[in-house]
Amino acid sequence: MIKTFTDILKIKYLKKSIPLYCHWEVTFRCNLRCPFCTLQSGKNIWQPELTTIEAIDILKQVKDMGSKIIHFVGGEPTIRNDLDELAELAKQYKMMTMITSNGYVKNINTLKKIDLVRISLTRKIDKKSNIGLNPVETLEELVLAGKTPSITTTISTETKDSDIDFILGLARRLKIKVGFYYVDVGLSHLNCFSPTDLEKRKEELQHLIIPRNEVLEKINNLYTKNKDVVLNQNRFFQMIKKGGLSKYGCRAMDTAICIKANGQIAMPCIEFPHKTPKGKLSEVYNSTCAKECRKEQGEYWFCKECGMSCMYSASTLLSIIELFSTVKKYIKQII
Ligand code: SF4
Ligand code: SF4
Repeated sequence: MIKTFTDILKIKYLKKSIPLYCHWEVTFRCNLRCPFCTLQSGKNIWQPELTTIEAIDILKQVKDMGSKIIHFVGGEPTIRNDLDELAELAKQYKMMTMITSNGYVKNINTLKKIDLVRISLTRKIDKKSNIGLNPVETLEELVLAGKTPSITTTISTETKDSDIDFILGLARRLKIKVGFYYVDVGLSHLNCFSPTDLEKRKEELQHLIIPRNEVLEKINNLYTKNKDVVLNQNRFFQMIKKGGLSKYGCRAMDTAICIKANGQIAMPCIEFPHKTPKGKLSEVYNSTCAKECRKEQGEYWFCKECGMSCMYSASTLLSIIELFSTVKKYIKQII
């Protein structure tokens, strides 16, 4: 804890870069096909996926670089058969572990080993999933095991009031929290892109997107009426309304490291991997190329579109007030 605090001071005042938060897309494979997902937008170039030995090596490298929080994302991270092993190793390294899963899981025991489990509920539940447990069963199992998972859900034009009522009811029944988000536009499937690509992606998603202010208003109303179960995203949403991370001051590359399924670092961030050099992580993270990205983080042309809450949390690690707000938010999720 003390080391983390001194690392924060080093980043803040000595302009050091220490990836306290590691956002790792451990796989690009998924057992679902959500319409707004970047996985559906083309050929995935982040291959080949890491072998277990390579993934273990990546984990050791991020630990050596100072990472204290590791977030396993995908694709669907539980598809990796070695996730159990990676989660245990991260624990041995004294890292706080997080996962975002769609809840269709074969092995619930892996999720039970992870500190913060977020189950993403965005589609109609497949009651008889042939994958194993469905998201509701996964949440129930986790709660029964004494864990406090949370639900995350994306509001799109396809979201019906009855879907929201179902999720709120589920959260109430299980005494857990739910966080509402909106459809975000990123280019995480490309490693070389232009404004034209972003426009194309927006067009692809247009039929699902509710205008930003409208959806934020809707989420705010949901929070006001359901304070017992809805996670308050006020600070993040206020930042989005004021112009996003580019206005707030992005520090994603000073406090976080984003890793793709094949082990490449995505710079400056996971959704806009503008540069993806290969090599030993610490060398890439401290390379001239990384330094150039650091100078421009938050100021690239694509930053105006940025609504990444994880990168917001990473950036706000450097502000004491925001840090407390983030910690409070996470504590709310686990108690
Ligand atoms: S569950 Fe997640 S990774 Fe899988 S298709 Fe849906 S949004 Fe994409
Ligand atoms: S797109 Fe990336 S670099 Fe730009 S503000 Fe968002 S997190 Fe920062």
